Amino acid sequence: MTQQLWAPWRLEYVQRPDDENACFLCLAGEGDDEERLVVRRGRGALVLLNKFPYASGHLLVAPSRHIGSFGELSDEEALEVHRLCSSGVRALAETFAPQGFNLGWNLGRVAGAGVVDHVHMHIDPRWAGDTNFMPVVAGVKVLPEHLVETRRKLAAAWP
Ligand SMILES: [Zn+2]
Repeated sequence: MTQQLWAPWRLEYVQRPDDENACFLCLAGEGDDEERLVVRRGRGALVLLNKFPYASGHLLVAPSRHIGSFGELSDEEALEVHRLCSSGVRALAETFAPQGFNLGWNLGRVAGAGVVDHVHMHIDPRWAGDTNFMPVVAGVKVLPEHLVETRRKLAAAWP
């Protein structure tokens, strides 16, 4: 169980939207916040929790537009995605007090992207030795918080 929950970088590969043909990032753009784990909606971009997180609070930030090429981002989208990342880092700092963050784009299947036709940025909160640390402090071998509760906390802490 621990292995499955705490080494899940590649689990995104098996992530499948509810509708086999639908893009989960586009579905998040239309659906209910709680159901789709949307933390924040901007004008042309949105923030949601990764359903298969590396750690509590693993966020995805995507343009609302279904575009698969990083170079197709408009200036406004590029700016908004990064502004949302900035706010996301602050909300995570306030909520979970991580010791560091990884922010990045996985472009293309070989680079680790699970969804290749809708570009998105990852925000991963990090703790020293985090794959061992979190289960210890949580006292359990599963993610310490349910995703719905994590979503609620981060939305409430959004700057
Ligand atoms: Zn999409």
